Amino acid sequence: MKLASFTYNGRMQIGIIEDDTIFTTALPDTMLTMIRRGISPQRSFDRYPLAKVKLEAPLRPGKIVCIGRNYAEHAKETGSEVPSAPLIFAKFPSAVIGPGDTITWDEAITTQVDWEGELAVVIGKKARHVAEADALSYVFGYTIANDVSARDIQLRQDSQWTRGKSLDTFCPLGPWVITRDALPDPQNLAIKTVVSGEVRQDGNTRDMIFSVAALIAYCSRMFTLEPGDVILTGTPDGVGEGMKPPVYLKDGDVVTVSIEGIGELTNPCKATRSA
Ligand code: MG
Repeated sequence: MKLASFTYNGRMQIGIIEDDTIFTTALPDTMLTMIRRGISPQRSFDRYPLAKVKLEAPLRPGKIVCIGRNYAEHAKETGSEVPSAPLIFAKFPSAVIGPGDTITWDEAITTQVDWEGELAVVIGKKARHVAEADALSYVFGYTIANDVSARDIQLRQDSQWTRGKSLDTFCPLGPWVITRDALPDPQNLAIKTVVSGEVRQDGNTRDMIFSVAALIAYCSRMFTLEPGDVILTGTPDGVGEGMKPPVYLKDGDVVTVSIEGIGELTNPCKATRSA
């Protein structure tokens, strides 16, 4: 099932997408509430052409758990060792924007904004001390994320990553959630990032160092994963910071992250400058 949050005539709803039609559902206001209450989405009678609605971020997650350096070639391009255990950091939920929304930054704060296309896992059930063999049963579904990162802040100003990863608009998410039953194997999906027509990342989720199941099991040994939390599973090689010389996003760029079996997440970029 392909589930989306959308706005039509100013009202946000949850819909089920089939081909180019979106069917409404008799569901509570947000996908986060739906997942937390364990409600199964059912099609209702009303429908709209998909092109007539505004897709929003599928959900505003409870928390966003990010995994660093989970692809060996990306670890290498950043001059880092491959981690021996998942490297966990956080991104604030207030950074989330939807498909088509603008990634924006103030050049007085950062001038080195980078892309990171990632498979995003939406947790469906409370998970604590989960075995890797059972871990995928805790997944509600999958979507696409762009772990937008201010490299100057992340790598050269702060000794940790929270600020550089959490600026407003720095977590595009969407365009919809593919439920787990419709995507049984998350470890064999092509993942690609295109920036203004240039292919920058061209990887496959099979190259993750720690699989989705391993990540859920590991995280659940450290802290509770709650329904509606999202895990960003790390980015393949091809980020701008790794290029020689480095390339960063600029005003007017358009970034598209696509993942096989899920879809495409496209966001334009807008740089501003405060006094
Ligand atoms: Mg990342």
